[in-house]
Amino acid sequence: MRGTTRVYGILGDPVSHSLSPAMQNAAFAAAGIDGAYVPFPVAASGLAATLAGLHAAGVAGLNVTVPHKEAAARLCVSLRPRARACGAANTLIRSPKGWVGDNTDGAGLLAALAEQRFAPRGKNVLLIGAGGSARSVAHAFARAGVALLLVANRTPERAAELAAGLRRRDAYAADLRVLANPDVLAGLDLIVNSTSTTLGGDALPAIDYAATSPTLLCCDLMYGKKPSRFLAQARRAGRRTMDGSGMLLHQGALAFTLWTGKKAPVAVMRRALRKATTAG
Ligand code: NDP
Repeated sequence: MRGTTRVYGILGDPVSHSLSPAMQNAAFAAAGIDGAYVPFPVAASGLAATLAGLHAAGVAGLNVTVPHKEAAARLCVSLRPRARACGAANTLIRSPKGWVGDNTDGAGLLAALAEQRFAPRGKNVLLIGAGGSARSVAHAFARAGVALLLVANRTPERAAELAAGLRRRDAYAADLRVLANPDVLAGLDLIVNSTSTTLGGDALPAIDYAATSPTLLCCDLMYGKKPSRFLAQARRAGRRTMDGSGMLLHQGALAFTLWTGKKAPVAVMRRALRKATTAG
């Protein structure tokens, strides 16, 4: 690091598990950019002061993760359409007057799906969950022209609010009983799990895979060394699966380009992520 090094970082609580520093620092090195990307653990009570302070200190760009994405959007001087639509920002771009918020999560998932040769246009999608990541993903699917978007959530009111906010006639809400409804399951091309259910006790209700198409793709936003329970069940049923590592990669690649104006070195970032995942 030198006096000219531009500083980037990620704000979260907690943030020590984040793989973004490994991925973005590898990207800066590969692109020949004099930059350094650091984790900032920040409690909700300190978010506003931290954002103002990092802007005053000349920090060049930020990512925002759980639980600050909505609050960060409210603290931005302006929002790009993707962040405004879902009311959450995961990428902050420096402007003279303050931070400009964008959201690359949904577009990151679409890029990861494209790598699996899955094009959402005209497809029937079940999105499980209605939290922060679901909002970004739902708006991206709506923009990408899915034929049907069914949002199912443990708290059905949140699913209803999300589906209504999309302002589309082909977006519907349901509770989790839909996971066992063969008539609904039969027509699906993609199921995305965006819940924070873990490998431990709090599992989703079982999906009746016998009722699903053999070409169904099952995607979990979670990533890690082991597949989630949702993905393990889908694999056992012989369905195609993908975890959230591709989304993590591509949301980061899009953020890199927003900050630097340069094409992201995606292959380098993918390798850095793999290395950090197996080391973690
Ligand atoms: P939120 O806390 O905003 O939302 C959590 C969602 O999970 C809600 O819909 C909640 O339902 C549901 N949920 C929680 N526990 C249960 C349970 N026991 N049974 C059924 N539903 C449950 O989380 P996020 O949207 O921010 O994150 C969700 C997941 O996505 C996390 O695993 C996160 O790591 C991952 N993620 C991955 C990214 C990537 O780049 N790959 C990016 C962002 C997130 P309810 O409304 O009823 O509480």
